[in-house]
Amino acid sequence: MKVTEHIARAKDTLISFEILPPLKGKSIESIYDHLDPLMEFKPAYINVTYHRSEHMFKKKADGSFDKVEIRKRPGTVGICAAIMNHYNVDAVPHLICGGFSREETENALIDLNFLGIDNVLVLRGDAPKNETFFEPDPHGHSYAIELLDQVAHMNNGMYLENDLQGGVKTNFCIGVAGYPEKHFEAPNMQTDMGHLKRKVENGADYIVTQMFFDNQKFFDFVAKCREMGITVPIIPGLKPLTSKKQMTILPRIFHVDLPTELSNEILRCKTDKEVEQVGTEWLITQSRELKQFGVPVLHYYTLGKPNVVRKAVEAIM
Ligand code: FAD
Repeated sequence: MKVTEHIARAKDTLISFEILPPLKGKSIESIYDHLDPLMEFKPAYINVTYHRSEHMFKKKADGSFDKVEIRKRPGTVGICAAIMNHYNVDAVPHLICGGFSREETENALIDLNFLGIDNVLVLRGDAPKNETFFEPDPHGHSYAIELLDQVAHMNNGMYLENDLQGGVKTNFCIGVAGYPEKHFEAPNMQTDMGHLKRKVENGADYIVTQMFFDNQKFFDFVAKCREMGITVPIIPGLKPLTSKKQMTILPRIFHVDLPTELSNEILRCKTDKEVEQVGTEWLITQSRELKQFGVPVLHYYTLGKPNVVRKAVEAIM
């Protein structure tokens, strides 16, 4: 079922989870171990992230290096199929521009359609690790909106080859990313929001946000979206904070601020166990307030911490 259909039928705030594929070589059991403690909360759907290849340097016997391309976390599509089969829950694969030609994207969408997957979260993706700028595939997309247009075209039966126009119509529900604290490359909030609005005008069915730790930033973002005429559901993305080093890692990687009250509490902690306690309580407070605000879904980035997410969801049920 589509994310938007789940939302339309819901009588209360829904729950959804986001997981990463395991590192290459690990089994699907690691995914089930991760999700099992969370399934009693009956998530409406589960997102599975997509990870592009990275360039690495491998040392050769003669001391020189070979530049090799490695995908550390393959398996997004297979995990989606496995989750749907194992738990009978909808899976939402993330689809990115980076590393895909238009034709590879089309083939991926055909696979997803044949698997009975009803939703995709379309994203641009970032530059590979150790590279500064995002470079599109020479035959691929530069921005999420272009990828969205391709999915929307397939929803209208339009494939890449002209003679295939009139092909089978897919029926994907399309999610896009939004940034309550602005995307880090955007020159300002207004420009970023303008690009978001165009994604919605071109067919995005809902928005899911980057993580944030200050609910007011989310409330302001929603108000701005509504002011601009963006009417689709806006789903907050929430992440538990569980270690002291995340105080610097999260702002660096995800370009989000931590409120002073939260950072002060973390600074007072002596161990990561104490930080986890503070982070869990913060997540519970955020979740309660967002639920009261009337968000359609609370979307949790579980990122290796299902037990913390479990405590938060338990507290708001
Ligand atoms: P876009 O919407 O393309 O925006 C990127 C930048 O370009 C923004 O600054 C925007 O303002 C600007 N822009 C947009 N359109 C245009 C245009 N037409 N012309 C000029 N500028 C434009 N990454 C992964 O690799 N895998 C994942 O699974 C993944 N999951 C994510 C899930 C969520 C909920 C979120 C919030 C992010 C996720 N990301 C993931 C990270 C995401 O790929 C990065 O944040 C990326 O830098 C931007 O993606 P986007 O879809 O927002 O890009």
